[in-house]
Amino acid sequence: MKTQEYIETLPKGACRSRGEGLYSVMARTPLGDVSAEQLDTINAVVKEFGLPGVRVTARQRIQLIGIPEDKLRTVIERLGLVGEGRKYFVQACAGNSSCRFGVRDSMEMGARLEEFLNGFDLPAKLKSGVSGCPMSCGESYVRDIGLAGTPKGWTVLFGGNAGRRVRKGDVLAKGVSDEEALKIVGNALDFYAKNAKKKERTARFVERVGIDAVLEAVNGA
Ligand code: SF4
Repeated sequence: MKTQEYIETLPKGACRSRGEGLYSVMARTPLGDVSAEQLDTINAVVKEFGLPGVRVTARQRIQLIGIPEDKLRTVIERLGLVGEGRKYFVQACAGNSSCRFGVRDSMEMGARLEEFLNGFDLPAKLKSGVSGCPMSCGESYVRDIGLAGTPKGWTVLFGGNAGRRVRKGDVLAKGVSDEEALKIVGNALDFYAKNAKKKERTARFVERVGIDAVLEAVNGA
């Protein structure tokens, strides 16, 4: 059994998996986008090192599994970009770039949101979901920050969670532009950052302070 100190020395993107001496590595796939070149690289690495295969995770990432410890660092070198590579997790559905139901560009908005969130220092981890239409395949209603596209603009959601204590996010605004949506998200996060307890996720925060206090902060800012 490896000690916690050893685990903390593992390269970014790597983690222990089931089975003694075996590890997994997460290929970096921002917003679920994977290029043909990246697929080629992943395929070549899997074959070269005789790995059992890959797994597409619930968070839209490709995980190479069953990597023996003595091959771990070489696998990472061959793969190139691994791990999150971003401060806060954002997922996005295909949106109107390729989904026939999409009414807004969730991929582009997801990228903008990811960039925008880099400017925050929050008390707990934050997950966001951006969807190109109200069907919310990007899980917008169960993420800390959710954006769901409609023909009139974005619906902005706050305080959702899909964990053990599921919570549906509250609506902060409807029918707003890209810029307005980011401003509302920023106002909500400023309020959250100032008033949340350490490690308190947005869902628990909203339950404690009440959504009216969040709305007041958002609209009064
Ligand atoms: S949320 Fe809408 S736009 Fe996005 S994948 Fe689902 S159906 Fe398509």
